[in-house]
Amino acid sequence: MTVAARNPSEERLLAYAAGTLSPPEAVVVAAHLALRPANDAWVRRLQSVGGAFLETTRPADLSDGALARAMARIETDSGEARVPPSLNDMTELPEPLRRYALGPWRWIGPGMRVRDVHAPRDGDCRVILLKIDAGRETPRHTHGGVELTCVLSGAYATETERFEVGDLEEADEDVLHRPRVVSDEPCLCVVALDGQIQLDGWLGRLIQPFVRL
Ligand code: ZN
Repeated sequence: MTVAARNPSEERLLAYAAGTLSPPEAVVVAAHLALRPANDAWVRRLQSVGGAFLETTRPADLSDGALARAMARIETDSGEARVPPSLNDMTELPEPLRRYALGPWRWIGPGMRVRDVHAPRDGDCRVILLKIDAGRETPRHTHGGVELTCVLSGAYATETERFEVGDLEEADEDVLHRPRVVSDEPCLCVVALDGQIQLDGWLGRLIQPFVRL
């Protein structure tokens, strides 16, 4: 069975390209783009068009061959990005995540560990790495805000979808799910998480104080 790739919404990619996405979400989208070259090319093209228009046109000048000039600039622009020095100890991470310092691994439950990524925060929204062993599942939960997850290795499934390497899941306070690792290896994800997850059911409410992501 072929499973469709799970991509960010167009709105989120546009916000990323425009530089208006919140910094923690932008870190997760950057990791996704490093793993999905086709989406990365789309975003770079969008950024080139936007940048070229800003540099070459005035508001009243758009009909005067501006598009052709902008596109010509894109063709001649090599677009090569400078690779920053690697800082952290996880060589398996995609390049955009290598530049951030990492906190220690913390145990949050059987077969589940979490590690802070010291990337820019946005209020209570921050970036974490989550590593869950094969066959494990998280408690069923909803969210205090956005939860943006990109799979870096392994795979997981929710009740309705499956997420492989490079896939991105967009969840929020309206989503109730129970991700379960379905790969033979542990599943490593990078997550932008706003606030804490909110566990479902009586057992969830009992153990909620112990689950601090
Ligand atoms: Zn969740």
